[in-house]
Amino acid sequence: MIGNRSALLLDDLVQPFQIESMAAQGRFVRLGKSVDNVLTAHDYPESVAALLGEAQALAGLLAGAFKYDGVLTVQVKGDGPVTLLVADVTSDGAMRGYAQYDADRVRALEASGPDAVSAAPVARLLGSGYLAFTVDQGAEHQRYQGIVELEGTTLADCAHAYLHRSVQMDAAINLAVGRVPAGPGGETWRAGGLMVQRMADGGRLQRQSGEARDSLDDDAWRRAVVLMKSCSRDELLDQRLNPDDLLFRLFHEDGVRVFEPSSVEMRCRCSRARVENVLRSFPRTEIESMKVEDRVVVTCEFCNAEYGFDDDQLERLYRD
Ligand SMILES: [Zn+2]
Repeated sequence: MIGNRSALLLDDLVQPFQIESMAAQGRFVRLGKSVDNVLTAHDYPESVAALLGEAQALAGLLAGAFKYDGVLTVQVKGDGPVTLLVADVTSDGAMRGYAQYDADRVRALEASGPDAVSAAPVARLLGSGYLAFTVDQGAEHQRYQGIVELEGTTLADCAHAYLHRSVQMDAAINLAVGRVPAGPGGETWRAGGLMVQRMADGGRLQRQSGEARDSLDDDAWRRAVVLMKSCSRDELLDQRLNPDDLLFRLFHEDGVRVFEPSSVEMRCRCSRARVENVLRSFPRTEIESMKVEDRVVVTCEFCNAEYGFDDDQLERLYRD
């Protein structure tokens, strides 16, 4: 294995790599605190938290696949018990997410049996709807958005469909999320993901052209996908397993090169100034009608932070 590591970054990371003999590149995402902080900021039912954790891991994988300077958002809308999932990650590694759901419908689904959700999480939890990827690079750049209908058993399946159809990328994704023991009697959420994508030029420009090369590349690509999928849930979630060791274990026969990893953390971008801007965009009468005990309180749906405004503060808001 080639590659050097400037600092010991073992958790909450995105690790790019390249399989040398196979013309594939990929990323390994491992989320500890960055996913636990998001999922425990709200009292989500187990199945909703798990799906949101997967969406976060997916956002981390895709953030590495698109070169951007701004915010990448994964948004899933459905007509099932879960109506909305949002996970976003900035190019400097700030990650957050939230889910909207119908608590009664989720409870009924979870109560209907242990495999009720796991057999077909997308169909059971989200129903029909769509998956959208948005890259926002600020006012001076055009916003990019790609959308696909929800098709497939898992979020990873839906992402494959998107990558294949919308950006003509051959890619395969393996996602895992779950609670693992942490501290005395405690548990913590973890998520992990692996993605391989076929390199456009096949990485084999030096070889002669022709059918033989193409079929060789096809075989190599299929092998990369099989090896990537052989990575177990436990391996994806194990905090003690060094990312280099995991990638070496999977791809050592074909040679794997790791590049500099980048870190991610749960960090919300909400602020009092942003909330004030949103409030100002509504008519004052509407804002006044939100008052509870003479205060308007706005709660961030991502991190649950509360921003309170009393009469004096509202007065100033509308005067400025
Ligand atoms: Zn927030």
